[in-house]
Amino acid sequence: MTGRLVVVAACCLALGCGPNPPAPVKVMALIPGSTNLLAPTEVSLQTVTNVTNLKGTVASLVGGASVVVDPNDPLQQINGGIANQTDDQRYAGIVKNTGLDVTVNWISKGDVLWPADFDSWNMVTAYYNFERSYQYFLGVYDGVDPVELRNQRVMYWPEVHLNSATPLTDNALYLSYIKSFVLVPAVNFQLVPLAMNLGVIGHEFSHRVFSVKVYGDVGIPAPLVQWTNQPFNTLKSIDEGFADFHGYGVTCLETAGCRPSFLSVSISDADTLQLRDFSRPDACLDPTLKSALTSFSPDQWVRDPSMYKYGDLWAASMYQAANELGKLGEMQKALVASYDDGSSTTPGLQQLITGTLNAPINAFTPENVADVILSHVTDPDLKKQLCSQFLTRLQLACTTGGSTLCAEIPNCPSTASRDATTCPTLP
Ligand SMILES: [Zn+2]
Repeated sequence: MTGRLVVVAACCLALGCGPNPPAPVKVMALIPGSTNLLAPTEVSLQTVTNVTNLKGTVASLVGGASVVVDPNDPLQQINGGIANQTDDQRYAGIVKNTGLDVTVNWISKGDVLWPADFDSWNMVTAYYNFERSYQYFLGVYDGVDPVELRNQRVMYWPEVHLNSATPLTDNALYLSYIKSFVLVPAVNFQLVPLAMNLGVIGHEFSHRVFSVKVYGDVGIPAPLVQWTNQPFNTLKSIDEGFADFHGYGVTCLETAGCRPSFLSVSISDADTLQLRDFSRPDACLDPTLKSALTSFSPDQWVRDPSMYKYGDLWAASMYQAANELGKLGEMQKALVASYDDGSSTTPGLQQLITGTLNAPINAFTPENVADVILSHVTDPDLKKQLCSQFLTRLQLACTTGGSTLCAEIPNCPSTASRDATTCPTLP
């Protein structure tokens, strides 16, 4: 890994001035084809300001960075720990090497630039994937300027230690506490590197959106420090499930079409793929998962596949409801609209969290989360389908409440219903 990074840095010095045509720039990148496998494809980068250093208005790649989260680090103990630090303090304490410009080795063929080596293909494809993710959310924001999604810092192949002596490999993450994306080294060359996987970058970009809108762009949000058990577990899971749902949405932008199984080219573990496949018809809460949701500590939950499995039941509900009606775009917009809404009539998830921060038990419930999402779905058919899916797959509590179907979910239409043949009703 170090050797490859040295090459990147050395190229920067030797080839400081590669081609730099103004956007849009025609380049070759590795894009999913009709079989879901990557194929060299001509694309147009719309947002680059320097195509050789891969800097642009959406993202800028940085090579050779080093990130170390270590509670024993004196810099990370200032103010009693990183949770109490300012963004700048935390960045200074955790980012041990802020890195250098990357340099793509290009070969010009006519008016199209071809990457000349593995890292160049990987970096260009990653940049393209960030650009596509931005374009997806530009549409989902529905006329609101997504200014907070521009100028993202993307650390390419950094050395990342998260409370561990072993550096992370084969992963892509959004680290809200340093407001950076990290694309750590790919060492399993049998699989598509995560940086090249459009759905994965869409998933990570979705975490940035959730972080900004639901947590107000706070690097270490208060509920993740204060909460435990079901409120904590629900919150972490919806962030993951929504990210999978949006990652799937980003894949729809390519000619290969929408791919809920976008992880399958990058992950070989069959169990992981099964639980992350939110398109499977039998995605249902089961007794084991239900028990884990209420009993697992935060540390258990984030280390257990249950976190993704539960999150993907939310994704499954939205996927089934939206695709049954051909209203995927409406669903994506309603979901993001529900993240942050300061109105008194339809408060958003940020407002639900703030209102329940000091007493989340029986207040930040799956039913309340579902109700916030449903209140932002304007299409009546989609609202009905979505509530039916939530009731069915998440086994939400629903006791008759006067004029509404469920006292716990006032925004669930009275025409919605649980389908016990799809998911057997749990006691
Ligand atoms: Zn994630």
